[in-house]
Amino acid sequence: MTTSSNPTSPQLQNNPLLAFGRGIALYSEVKPEHIAPAIEYLLKHAQDAVNKATDPHTTSNWDELVEPLEDATEALGRSWGVISHLNSVADTPELRAAYGAMLPEVTAFFSGLGQNLALYQKFKELNTSSEFEKLNHDQKKVITNSLRDFRLGGAELSDQEKPRFAQIQDEQAILGKTFSDHVLDATDGFVHLVTNSEDLAGLPEDAIAAAADTAKQKNLQGWAFTLHFPSYYPVMQYSENRDLRRLMYQAYVTRSSELAPQYADGKLDWDNTHNMLDQLCLRDEEAKMLGFSNYAALSLAPKMANKVDEVDLFLTNFAIKAKPFAQKDWQELCDFANAKLGLTDGLQPWDTAYAAERLKQARYSFSENELKQYFPLPKVLDGLFQLIQTLFGVKIEAANLPTWHADVQSFAVKDLTGEIRAYFYLDPYARPGKRGGAWMDDARGRRELPNGEIQVPIAYLVCNFAPPIKVDGILRQPTITHDDVITLFHESGHGLHHLLTQVGALGVSGINGVEWDAVELPSQFMENFCWEWEVLEKMTAHVVTEKPLPRELFEKMLAAKNFQNGLATLRQIVMSLTDWRLHSSFDATQSSGQAVLDVSRKIAAEYSIISQPEISRWINSFSHIFAGGYAAGYYSYKWAEVLSADAYAAFEEAAELSGSILDTKTGIRYREEILEVGGSRPAAESFKAFRGREPSIDALLRHGGLS
Ligand SMILES: [Zn+2]
Repeated sequence: MTTSSNPTSPQLQNNPLLAFGRGIALYSEVKPEHIAPAIEYLLKHAQDAVNKATDPHTTSNWDELVEPLEDATEALGRSWGVISHLNSVADTPELRAAYGAMLPEVTAFFSGLGQNLALYQKFKELNTSSEFEKLNHDQKKVITNSLRDFRLGGAELSDQEKPRFAQIQDEQAILGKTFSDHVLDATDGFVHLVTNSEDLAGLPEDAIAAAADTAKQKNLQGWAFTLHFPSYYPVMQYSENRDLRRLMYQAYVTRSSELAPQYADGKLDWDNTHNMLDQLCLRDEEAKMLGFSNYAALSLAPKMANKVDEVDLFLTNFAIKAKPFAQKDWQELCDFANAKLGLTDGLQPWDTAYAAERLKQARYSFSENELKQYFPLPKVLDGLFQLIQTLFGVKIEAANLPTWHADVQSFAVKDLTGEIRAYFYLDPYARPGKRGGAWMDDARGRRELPNGEIQVPIAYLVCNFAPPIKVDGILRQPTITHDDVITLFHESGHGLHHLLTQVGALGVSGINGVEWDAVELPSQFMENFCWEWEVLEKMTAHVVTEKPLPRELFEKMLAAKNFQNGLATLRQIVMSLTDWRLHSSFDATQSSGQAVLDVSRKIAAEYSIISQPEISRWINSFSHIFAGGYAAGYYSYKWAEVLSADAYAAFEEAAELSGSILDTKTGIRYREEILEVGGSRPAAESFKAFRGREPSIDALLRHGGLS
């Protein structure tokens, strides 16, 4: 690679962040002191490439403009990716400091690219010259995507408008940060201390232990409950003490609102009421400056859904279909609470999770712990790999790449001819210094190099499963829960999207350039297999007896799967609709006070089966849309679920004929039409090419027990 061919200073020689070039990174050799010199060097090189690209003498074609720029920014992005990956999975104070020191510069470089008007001109020149016709399909898509992103970044605005546009971005960033700080402070700022052990009735042991721990940390006597979800939710779910549930519920749903209990002394101000209106005004202004009628329309520009009305109709139709099932769920819950729980004065908002948990236990009780014994990780992995091999006509083999921890495994994905298509790392277990949650990230994208060689993609699959434990001095096979299995399949779906691509232009290969209301299609698609007897039978072996999962236990799991799904679905739709209408049909500039809350109330009244509790200010802590990048995008969860369920239905239809859900013919078609094309064509076209028709909601309703 060009960037590492001539570093001569001692800090750059033998710097593992430069030495790996296009190849495989040597993670364990990266030391915090390597970071600044390597990134400074790569930043300088990337900036040189930008300067060269925008030079008036540079011809606007692929080879002189796009390729060298991609080369330099990819080198920077890849080395930076190694560092941020290590920061996530092998954090140390020194690494964090070195990472944090370079973060602003790297962020500024990449956001500067999108604002670079000279570069925009060069891309426009390429787009309108005869050079454009010489590009292949994927390269053209890269150029049109770039032009779109420049425009959405304000590149077409007049010089008079630009300062205001920049100001809007800054103000939005600050308001978003303030919103989430308020939610965090309000969450941290509430503690409820229980001093009488009788008040803990019903709570599971681990929740009680955690509460005792929290109390100790705060130098309190007793059990301290907070509004952090792992502390809050077990109370709602299990506590037999109705007053405790009510108290916690009221604190939770009034966070960051004028009703929050912490404001009693009048000193604190974590209220997000005005923040929401301010953000909505700014978004509206931004959209109008860019020529859109509202922010929802702007948000759709790079997404799969086309029109504001289309999304509204999607959500309202969905609500109408889910409503009778939610009604039924609600009635069951009320009847049960009345007859069995003694809640004869009606089900209150602080009773619903509790009543649902009790009803679930009454109906489908099985031990999660017993179930877990059937899922040793090696057996599950073997099952997952077998499934991928059968469906998609590839082979997965151990690869022995250098890694960052002894627990990390690496694999090669090969064609049936033995040719390597991709690599991936699997980092399965939780450990100190590793960020929580599960994710797939790209370590390297597929790319056709100027010399015609193919750079094969590499992915990270990161999970946080419980590490193996020793029993009587012997290390037991690690077992994971069924939820963990679903997580693993989900991330592997993202991984396959990234790894099996056949696109050569980096900007649209794999998950790059995929509309983000469609990006969860391949991941959610894979989750479906975790509910197939045919798959589970082969993927399970009891950790002691080695027997597969009993059919009877499987049937119980399946029966519990859609428990109360009508209510859960309707809740998601009401949240999505609230987000959507706030950004499409609500005029924040003409509103004041509790107008945002009123919108959410109105939608709940119209589409939900229970009206929004008078006290609830849930919208004041709806961070997804006010602090998390899901503004006018919350619908995407349901949108992608429709796509993934409908894609999966193609396998169910094939199984009706062949008798097996693992239908290779359908699998290869899915690989070719969805996975391989990545972002090189619109997701709607890819879906249609695979399914032979537009997406239908029917499969999702059927899978969710809503039909
Ligand atoms: Zn995902």
